[in-house]
Amino acid sequence: MPSSGHTSAEGLTLRLRVRGVVQGVGFRPFVYRLAQSLGLSGWVLNDPEGVLIEASGPEERLQAFQEALVRQAPAAARVEGVEVVAREVGGKEGTFVIRESAAQGLPITLISPDLAVCEECLRELFDPADPRYLYPYINCTHCGPRYSILLDLPYDRPRTTMRDFSLCPRCQAQYEDPLDRRFHAQPVACPQCGPHYALLDGEGQPVAEREEAIALAARWLREGRILAVKGIGGYHLACDAQNPEAVARLRARKYRKDKPFALMAKDLEALEGYALLPPEAQTLLTSPARPIVLLERGPKTLPPEVAPGVPEIGVMLPYTPLHHLLFWAGAPPLLVMTSGNRSSEPIAYRDEEALERLQGLAEGFLVGERPIARRVDDSVVALLEGRPAMVRRARGYAPSPVVRHPRFQKPILALGAGLKNAIALATEGYVFVSQHIGDLDNLDAFQAFVETLHDLTRMYRVPLEEALVVHDLHPDYPSSRYAEALPGPKLAVQHHRAHIAAVVAEHGLWEEPVLGFAFDGTGLGEDGTVWGGEVFAGPLWALQRVGHLDTALLPGGEAAARYPEQAAVGFLIGQEEALWRPFLGEKPVAVALSLLKSGARTPKTSSLGRLFDAAAALCGFRGRMSYEGQAAIWLEALARQGRGEEAYPFPFREGRWDYRPLLMALLQDLRRGEPREEVARRFHLGLAQGVVEAALTLGRSLGFKTVALSGGVWHNKLLHARVVQALRREGFQVFWNQEVPVGDGGIALGQAALGQMALEGLG
Ligand code: ZN
Ligand code: ZN
Ligand code: FE
Repeated sequence: MPSSGHTSAEGLTLRLRVRGVVQGVGFRPFVYRLAQSLGLSGWVLNDPEGVLIEASGPEERLQAFQEALVRQAPAAARVEGVEVVAREVGGKEGTFVIRESAAQGLPITLISPDLAVCEECLRELFDPADPRYLYPYINCTHCGPRYSILLDLPYDRPRTTMRDFSLCPRCQAQYEDPLDRRFHAQPVACPQCGPHYALLDGEGQPVAEREEAIALAARWLREGRILAVKGIGGYHLACDAQNPEAVARLRARKYRKDKPFALMAKDLEALEGYALLPPEAQTLLTSPARPIVLLERGPKTLPPEVAPGVPEIGVMLPYTPLHHLLFWAGAPPLLVMTSGNRSSEPIAYRDEEALERLQGLAEGFLVGERPIARRVDDSVVALLEGRPAMVRRARGYAPSPVVRHPRFQKPILALGAGLKNAIALATEGYVFVSQHIGDLDNLDAFQAFVETLHDLTRMYRVPLEEALVVHDLHPDYPSSRYAEALPGPKLAVQHHRAHIAAVVAEHGLWEEPVLGFAFDGTGLGEDGTVWGGEVFAGPLWALQRVGHLDTALLPGGEAAARYPEQAAVGFLIGQEEALWRPFLGEKPVAVALSLLKSGARTPKTSSLGRLFDAAAALCGFRGRMSYEGQAAIWLEALARQGRGEEAYPFPFREGRWDYRPLLMALLQDLRRGEPREEVARRFHLGLAQGVVEAALTLGRSLGFKTVALSGGVWHNKLLHARVVQALRREGFQVFWNQEVPVGDGGIALGQAALGQMALEGLG
């Protein structure tokens, strides 16, 4: 009930609407304490639109209140706006109260992502006098799991995986006390009433419990064992990153040849020398989302098995109390922390599943009793031009909405691409993007795709019959095929249009005429060829393809994307063989030539990703790539070691980039014995120049001044930096995906945006 009292003429009464991530993050107790400290009366409540406040008191104190709502909000909250929805002259006397939530009305409640343990909880964790001393499940309204324990909305303990743990009197009292940091903290627990950890050996037999389990696990890690460790959204495989033998063993058992492992460092100090730590990287590393951050290497070296042949290492800091306890108990200060799976399977998150699938891989299991409701991988973030750019969006970010726009009213379900899949759901003014799901060719990942799709639509109360289903034009993607199983109307969207649309949607460039450069490895084009070096122009609802990389042949088709030497032959066929053959391996060239002769499986491609592969092969990359983009990453690492400013010619004429002068110049340099680092660099700078030339030519003729960059090729920092800086000098505004990946993890957002255009009768 609103507090009663008589009106005081000097005051004011305001109704305030607070929007954003303001539920399940300690916002109401914060409002309560703030109002009390300012001597205001009124109430606060959660409702489906966020938080609603009525505050009454002198005008200047209400002013201070409003400002503090934004400035002093709890770390885990994201206040998107405070709006005065009603204003009345005259204050009301009385106290300030927290009211029961209003459940009626719109179903949209923003679900908070999982949050790293907060400073206050950490202090308690290591305070011998605290009842939660060394308790690995300590949390409060400012921190802890959210999305990964949520079974259904509204977010209340009986609808979380904590439902089977009943609160002890002390926890209960804290849970009910509006002034307590654990007021309505759904996962609240203590050693008396909450879950615990146990350590099992490699066969799954229990060895130790509670504190002893953690101490022994830390010792096993020191001794070089590989441990499966249950975390927030799944199991990790952990081992000492400074122990080459342990890392090599993990690689062999995980069937992971070269793909870099992520690290967890005890703290920032433990990273010193191994990675460069600019302030923006430190901010990101210590943010409540605690993503894996891609960092430039420092002078100190790690065993090559950790991250072979790449210029950066992916590092995160401890984010659960358990991680902190492991380091405290003496675990090595740099751990490999990779997802608990084999090869390309999704991360294991159910205990039985982990024990079964990781049997023979892990030499011990550190298993906690709190169930995980859904799989949520670690997020990966890069820094592009000093700003965070998502590489893999999951823990700490999902399922926060990426776009808020009133035009999204009718539900749209966007199914994403085939690789690095994530899906999107648009409804009631929001576009939600799911956590990273993975490569759908993998059966478990496909299963996760289906689960996530039903999970998201159920959570946001979207009936599947009502949702417009948007999928990739490629009919063979498992996501496209699954569209047929869904009841709603369907819309197929071209892959590279979706890439550009993702930038438009993320940055709200709805009416803006943009030049969009969509560069990646593969996507089915509207003319049946394989696209991947495309330029679009127009506002979103009228995007035209206005340019592309000249087409080359792709011997072996999309399946050959893993053989850079085959791609090279496709780009060079027609040029004198004596010129290029010496720089490629014998066997793959023979295979490619015979494929070309037979004409079988040789589509045309305008893929820039394949051009990168071709250049990498000529510069000496050999054999089959063991992960997507490996050859291009290798070439970029090489180019970053170069010093020169020369660039190979990459002319853009009549809507086409001609790659021949570029590759001819590259071959000439190789024949002259120029250092490969310089050759790789000139290739990069040539591409950058060609892109800028295209932007200038098209921008001038169309009168456009805004550029959108999307597609996996833009993960390339050297190319990205050169293009962005040059375009800015020419007066362009340049946008790229930051909240979703520029790679295929961002496709679903673009599909949702194009779906919306279709619903509006545009595009
Ligand atoms: Zn906390
Ligand atoms: Zn308790
Ligand atoms: Fe793509």
